[in-house]
Amino acid sequence: METITSIKITEAEWEIMRVVWASGTVTSREIVKVLENKKQWKSATIKTLIGRLVDKKALMTTKDGNKFIYSALVTEENSMEFYTDDIFSRVCDKQRGQLIANMVMDTVLSKSDIDRLRKLLEQKEMTALDEVPCNCIAGQCECNLSHH
Ligand SMILES: [Zn+2]
Repeated sequence: METITSIKITEAEWEIMRVVWASGTVTSREIVKVLENKKQWKSATIKTLIGRLVDKKALMTTKDGNKFIYSALVTEENSMEFYTDDIFSRVCDKQRGQLIANMVMDTVLSKSDIDRLRKLLEQKEMTALDEVPCNCIAGQCECNLSHH
């Protein structure tokens, strides 16, 4: 069996996965019903996306009479984690704090979210470095251009 972290889900496929994650088990007709208005996708497009997700083992099919029932083989949590890792791997370690700050700025947060973040930051402060080191290869980052 493939490891969960090796599955990359595209933006379009993510729309399908959200329907499956929300419902647990769904037929393709139910997926089409949810998405045809939101995305104006044709039923054939949605079925192609479902097929791709089955091929990459993000979805599992079981047959119930003449219907196919789909369920998720990857959790929303694991997929989110893979997705955020993917984003963070694209920037220098030094820029990640700014990326998180932007995310906080752009996100509607509840008081309990803020409370959790505050506690997390207090913990982080205890082991914080004066400066985050750059881990980029030479030539891919401004910080290690200046070293030469
Ligand atoms: Zn760097």
